[in-house]
Amino acid sequence: MTHDADVIVVGAGPVGLLLAAELRLAGATPLVLERLAVPSPQHKARSVGPLAAEALVRRGLGERLAAHGGAGAADKARDHGSEKGHFSTIFKIEQALQEEPERQSVFIWQPDLEALLGAYASGLGVEVRREHTVTGLTQDADGVTVTVAAPHGERSLRAAYAVGCDGGRSTVRRLTGFAFPGTAPIMTARRAQAEILKGAEQLPPPGRQPRGILYYGNGMLATFDFFGDTPEERDAPLTAEELQDSVRRITGADIEVAVTGETLRFGDHARQADTYRRGRVLLAGDAAHVHSPMGGQGLNLGLMDAVNLGWKLAAEVRGDAPPGLLDSYTAERHPAGARVLHNTRAQSALLTPGPHTDALRDIFSDLMDLPDVNRHLGRMLSGLDDTYDFPYPSPHPLTGRHCPDLTVRTGTREERLSTYTREGRPVLLAPDLRPAEPWRRRVELVRIESIAHDGLDAVLVRPDGAIAWASGAGAGGGAGNGAGVATGAGSDADGPVDEALETALAAWFSR
Ligand SMILES: Cc1cc2nc3c(=O)[nH]c(=O)nc-3n(C[C@H](O)[C@H](O)[C@H](O)COP(=O)(O)OP(=O)(O)OC[C@H]3O[C@@H](n4cnc5c(N)ncnc54)[C@H](O)[C@@H]3O)c2cc1C
Repeated sequence: MTHDADVIVVGAGPVGLLLAAELRLAGATPLVLERLAVPSPQHKARSVGPLAAEALVRRGLGERLAAHGGAGAADKARDHGSEKGHFSTIFKIEQALQEEPERQSVFIWQPDLEALLGAYASGLGVEVRREHTVTGLTQDADGVTVTVAAPHGERSLRAAYAVGCDGGRSTVRRLTGFAFPGTAPIMTARRAQAEILKGAEQLPPPGRQPRGILYYGNGMLATFDFFGDTPEERDAPLTAEELQDSVRRITGADIEVAVTGETLRFGDHARQADTYRRGRVLLAGDAAHVHSPMGGQGLNLGLMDAVNLGWKLAAEVRGDAPPGLLDSYTAERHPAGARVLHNTRAQSALLTPGPHTDALRDIFSDLMDLPDVNRHLGRMLSGLDDTYDFPYPSPHPLTGRHCPDLTVRTGTREERLSTYTREGRPVLLAPDLRPAEPWRRRVELVRIESIAHDGLDAVLVRPDGAIAWASGAGAGGGAGNGAGVATGAGSDADGPVDEALETALAAWFSR
């Protein structure tokens, strides 16, 4: 049976759109199937974390992203009552205290992000078929066949691979038989644009209450409710009655509200697929992991899944992936997801009502005044402490970390790393490129004089921004990388090549 595409991407949410774009950049043909006729207008995420923002900057989307940021910080300060970041709504995380304060979240509402990514993907030639709901999926040795319900009836589509980017209740995950272990929700959050018609005088000041959390103001009402049932039908719209009942449970106040706009209900389920790949079917984004939105980490995680998977799957499709490349996706991204589930569970625990948690929150809040604790939490929530465990020795401490948008000096000019990453190729920034010459077809080789980063003379950056190899004083031993280096510009033409660089190049790319 002929293939309709190299890869069928199920879901045109932010993760599916970015994955499709990454596949296209790397030479594969994706086909995106989306059940909705038009993009969702729901205002879920209001920002993307620093790693995902940097990934978009690497693809030349920095200006478009920044254009949406405008009132974001002020809006957040208005809605949260603080400009600072928070852990479990303790608003004390200070950007200025962080180790790399310039690496930060970028404000953009999710519908704007989806529009931005949709335009970017379509500019690259990605096809998105809307009103195409995936209802069936089978795989065999050569490919994947999906059944789709579309306006003109049911049909089958076939590709070499399929990726479920179809959100927390992923159909692809269920049809493929991925296990999805984790913990059930301990609270239900409800948020609505709403007007309080009666009883406002009975409400306590917004914030933590003895039996939950209540926020209101600026035409918005929200509760974090640890008691009471959620509707059997999880997609049932949130009504004024449900919201009033929740406020009564939390505060005892008998108010009357009118819902005036968007409503949202969500829980703190924390579940993760046991693996992100079963044969020719893979998962990314919320389809692979669900957790509470505390700390706004979902997009940072899901978009980084997309950029990690895109170039690897495209290499597999092209037939030139080094052995084990595709399985490195689960090996690298599953631990990143597990860390987010872990910290969101901790945040949920710190939200539970009662005097014992009140005492724990007081102590935790005092601890957050310690700069080291503040930095530790900041790095955890931003993902900046994520380090991939690569299958080769890596003496430089930055190996396996995500590369910032480095400034490099080339001749008389200063450039950013992102100048060289738009096409999605790996980039080697080094004073001497000779050791990597055999990989020229696959790797963007950029001769530089210096990098404006402590302890970094040369660096190999994968398409997803991960540092595959680095050289410099950061290795803890002068200008080498501690592995018998001969990268210096002075080594003669037949001299030894850098073995560690060679190992890294061979691990990730074909010549
Ligand atoms: C209240 C709230 C606030 C949040 N705030 C933040 C924040 O500030 N920062 C942050 O990073 N994250 C935040 N998140 C999390 C973020 O919204 C999600 O992580 C993000 O939407 C995940 O994107 P996705 O593409 O994986 O999945 P989704 O956005 O769920 O997209 C999945 C797509 O797949 C489609 N689909 C589903 N089933 C099928 C099918 N069978 N066939 C075809 N198509 C299908 C859906 O229609 C949808 O378009 C928040 C979440 C909530 C609920």
